[in-house]
Amino acid sequence: MVKCQVVMDALETIAPKRMAEEWDNPGLLVGALNQDIHKILVCLDVSDEVVEQAIEAGADMIVAHHPLIFRGIKKLRTDLPLGHRLQQLIKHDIAVVAAHTNLDIAEGGVNDVLAQAIGLSKLSSFVIERQDVDGSVLSMGRMGSLPAPMTVQDFARQVRDALPTEHVRLVDAGPRPVRKVALCSGSGAEFIQKAAFMGADVYVTGDVKYHEAQQAVEQGMHIIDAGHFGTEFPVVEVLKERLTEELAEAKGTVEVIADQSSRDFFTVV
Ligand SMILES: [Zn+2]
Repeated sequence: MVKCQVVMDALETIAPKRMAEEWDNPGLLVGALNQDIHKILVCLDVSDEVVEQAIEAGADMIVAHHPLIFRGIKKLRTDLPLGHRLQQLIKHDIAVVAAHTNLDIAEGGVNDVLAQAIGLSKLSSFVIERQDVDGSVLSMGRMGSLPAPMTVQDFARQVRDALPTEHVRLVDAGPRPVRKVALCSGSGAEFIQKAAFMGADVYVTGDVKYHEAQQAVEQGMHIIDAGHFGTEFPVVEVLKERLTEELAEAKGTVEVIADQSSRDFFTVV
């Protein structure tokens, strides 16, 4: 058993809260710092299924990427989805913590895990947010290189096979081979111009809309939309491993498990 505060300290090492965007809501969202923690479930979203899983597995803490509470709450209606989930969590004494944009930005976080999964090396910063306290650059996405140029169709298949998704959507901007890759996990369509400006052959992200795809084609840059879930879910297993390492001192008294059952909301028929 460890105190919740110990897990929070471990998370702070992995994804320091100061790295989060101003609009974000990371940190301890449900529970108390002096609460006893025996089992931690790591996931992307605190869905009803994840809460069920936590209850069944006897987990007393959920570490999620997406904050369960994001905007202000003016009522706690237990007959509505969020209120019901909060009721279940409090009833079963399950703490909830989120590492969101801080985990996107942190070294070894969501973007680095994505870059590694799809075969990129020579990683550098892509969307520079600001400077960290030690002067290092905090960056949302990543730029990276493939070992050799390839067709965008082959790379799209490589991305699809590497990620927990059955399909990717390819925006093919013509016969431009790909080697230089920009990426942003989750919803990164707002950085399409930036990726093109920085000379990326292809931009890998999720949640791309029609006119955003059009914008990329006009700039001669391919896009691979591997979905919000597909680009982010790989971090769950990695975060589980890293939390286990950070909590090694409490070995045997606290267990970290990863959500194995969540799937993308989108399927193709
Ligand atoms: Zn996300």
